[in-house]
Amino acid sequence: MSGNPAETFKNSLLATPGFIDEEGVRHHEFKRGNHGRKMDFSVVEKGTPQYDKWVELNKLAIRERHSGEEELFIIGIADGTTQLAFDVVEAMGHYAVGLRTEKLSDNDVRLTQAARLLVQKYIRAAPATVIALEDIGTTGYTSGGVILETRELGVESGEVQNTWQRSSVLDFLVQNHISHTAIIEKEVPSLRPEQCVKFGDCSKGVELIPYGK
Ligand SMILES: [Zn+2]
Repeated sequence: MSGNPAETFKNSLLATPGFIDEEGVRHHEFKRGNHGRKMDFSVVEKGTPQYDKWVELNKLAIRERHSGEEELFIIGIADGTTQLAFDVVEAMGHYAVGLRTEKLSDNDVRLTQAARLLVQKYIRAAPATVIALEDIGTTGYTSGGVILETRELGVESGEVQNTWQRSSVLDFLVQNHISHTAIIEKEVPSLRPEQCVKFGDCSKGVELIPYGK
């Protein structure tokens, strides 16, 4: 049962009530209109061993790629990983700095003004790498948008670290040449509504929860 820690974490998520729509019971309409089983990391509560594991896996994945000789900015993507990013920074020690984002609308997440100023200040002194922590990678649109924002501020090295990559390809990240990794890579399909009506959950009469409900 020891197995690989990411696999164990994945199984613990799937066993957590409310983490993913129960198969055959309900599915959700997403922001861009697609249908699929919704996953929700807000059920992973701070102060639990499961949350601590989430922090640890993110820290270890960053350490695998970064030796600690460079300055790292760890960005939380509002709202899902705001707290996580700061807890990962704390677990990593002094060489990482946490950055906050804010949700301006459903489709628009930006660095806060304070975060922008911090990046600009550091970048003048030394090169740095930014890592956006995303809980669920579907298209990469949100996390990728924040990485593009840091590029505009002069950061050359930016990447996205997804906890769970649910699509086989994160289109936005690929199109914008943003490197990305995932702790868990397991496809959870989403379908265009017309496909869902033909052969997905809608065709089987599974309840559909409209976007935002
Ligand atoms: Zn459907």
